[in-house]
Amino acid sequence: MISNTVFAPPAEDLPTALLIGGDRVTGSSGGTYDHIYPATGESNATIELAGDREVDRAVIAAKEAQREWISMPPERRRDLMFDLADAVKADVDRLSRFNVHDFAVPVRTSPGHVMLAEGFIRYYAGWVDKASGSSTPVSSKFDVNLIEREPFGVVGIIAPWNGPMVVVGLNVAPALAAGNAVILKPSELSPFTPLRFGEICVEVGLPPGLVNVLPSGPEGGAALVRHPGIGKIHFTGGGDTARKIITAAAPNLTPVATELGGKSANLVFEDADLDQAAILAAWQGPLGQSGQSCACGSRIMVQDKVYDAFLERFLKVIDSAPIGDPFDPSVMLGPVVSQASTERILAIIDRAVDENMGELITGGRRLGGELSSGFYIEPTVFGDVDNRSPLATVETFGPVVSVMRFADEAEAVAMANDTTFGLNAFVQTANLTRAHRVARQLESGSVWVNRNSDISPQGPYGGYKQSGTGRAGGLEGLHEFQQVKNIRIGM
Ligand code: NAD
Repeated sequence: MISNTVFAPPAEDLPTALLIGGDRVTGSSGGTYDHIYPATGESNATIELAGDREVDRAVIAAKEAQREWISMPPERRRDLMFDLADAVKADVDRLSRFNVHDFAVPVRTSPGHVMLAEGFIRYYAGWVDKASGSSTPVSSKFDVNLIEREPFGVVGIIAPWNGPMVVVGLNVAPALAAGNAVILKPSELSPFTPLRFGEICVEVGLPPGLVNVLPSGPEGGAALVRHPGIGKIHFTGGGDTARKIITAAAPNLTPVATELGGKSANLVFEDADLDQAAILAAWQGPLGQSGQSCACGSRIMVQDKVYDAFLERFLKVIDSAPIGDPFDPSVMLGPVVSQASTERILAIIDRAVDENMGELITGGRRLGGELSSGFYIEPTVFGDVDNRSPLATVETFGPVVSVMRFADEAEAVAMANDTTFGLNAFVQTANLTRAHRVARQLESGSVWVNRNSDISPQGPYGGYKQSGTGRAGGLEGLHEFQQVKNIRIGM
C-alpha cells in the first residue's frame, strides 16, 4: 500500500568529519564520498573517508585514552557509562532522524535502534564494577592461582550499514565496559548516527580518543584490520567480507570475532495462532527494514494442513503495509539501501522466476510513480520454494521471502537445518512441549518462539555455523572483549 508522500528529507546538520581523539578531522587520506539518501536517490551529504593515515592517528589517540580509562576507579567508569546511556536517551530524536538519513530506515522504527543501544550501554555500565575474576586450588597447595580478565587495549569494531546503533549497543558498549578503547568503523553508507554517537561520547566526558569513529569503505576497514596496534577486531557483516578480514588479520595473528548473515527458518505449525503467525512472519520477513536484517526470517516453512490458510493471512498483512517516505511516521516500509542493492535483489528475483525456484505469488518489481527515484522494491513472496535452490540458500538482504511446506515436525527440523547459516530460527506453535523439543534441535544461535527477534542486553546473540563466532549480550558479550590472564604466586 503506497502512502501519501513528501520526499524531501528534513534539512539537518549532518556530521561528516571523522572523529579522532575527540577532534573532527577533515582532509583525510581516504578521500570523500557522496552519501546517497536511498528514498530519493539524491546525495544528502559528502562525508570524509578514513584511510591508513587516519587509522594510524586513531590508534595512537585510542592507546592514550585507554590508559586513562583503565586507570580510573571502576565506579568512575561505571558512572561515565551511565551518563553515556542518559545522553543517548536524551538525544533519541536526533539520533533517530540521523538513522533515517543513513539508510532510510522508517522513522517509525529507527528510535528502536537508538533505545536498543541505550539499553545495552546501561546494562554493561552495570558490569563495570561487578565483573570479577576467580581463584582456584592448585597442586602446590599454598600457591595462589588467580584467573583474571583484562581488556585487549584498542579494539576495532567494523559495522554493517543496516544498524550502526545496534552495533554501538551490542559491541561498543561491552568493549568499553571491559576497559578497551574503540575504533568504530561504520560503513560509508551509514555514517551519520555513529558520528553523532562519537560526539556524545566526548560531550559526556569520556577520555577523548576512547571512542573514535572512522567511516570508510573496504579500504579503510582493511587498514584497520592490518594495523599492528589493534588488539582485536570485532566484525559484523557478510561472510565474504569476513573471509577477507580473517585473511588480512592473519599476519599479525589479530583475533577476529564475527557476527554474520542468516537465512533464518520460521516454522509455522498447524497448532499456531495463524493471525499472529502471519503478522510475525511479515514483520520478521519482507517488511521489517525491507528484509535488510540479519534476523530476517526469509524461509517461512508452514505445515501442509495450514499452508493456504496461513498464506492468505500473510499476504493480507503484506498488502496493508504502508510503503513510502521514511520520514512519514505512518510508513512501515522504506527503500532498500542503494542502486547496487536494488539491482542485485531484482536479479535474484528474475533468476528465481526464470529457473522456476518457486511460484512468484506477489511483488517482484521495482516501484515506480512517485517512488521511482528511490530504491523501492515491492515486498516479494515466492511459494512452494525448493529449499535447496539459491532463493532459499543465499542471503537476499531485501524484501524477498520463500514459503514452503512441511509434513511433520521431523521434516520441519531437517529443512530448517539444511543451510550453511545458523543465526536465528523462529517457531510458531501453541504446544509448549513441541516448542522446547524443536528449539533444542535447531542449529541456530537464537530460537524465538511465538515472537520476533528482540535482541536483549541479557541474552547472548550470535550465530552457529557460517553465521559467525561472536556473542553480543550477557556476560558472554563482555568476555568477547576480554583476554584471560592466569597469575600464580608461589608460596
Ligand atoms: P559487508 O560485509 O559488505 O560490510 C560490513 C562492513 O565491513 C562495512 O563497514 C564495510 O565497509 C566493511 N568492509 C568491507 N570490506 C572490508 C574489508 N576488506 N576489510 C575490512 N572491512 C571491510 O556487509 P553489509 O552489506 O554492510 O551488511 C550486511 C551484512 O551484515 C549481511 O550479511 C547481514 O546479515 C550482516 N549483519 C549481521 C548481523 C549480526 O548481528 N549477525 C547484524 C547486522 C548485519
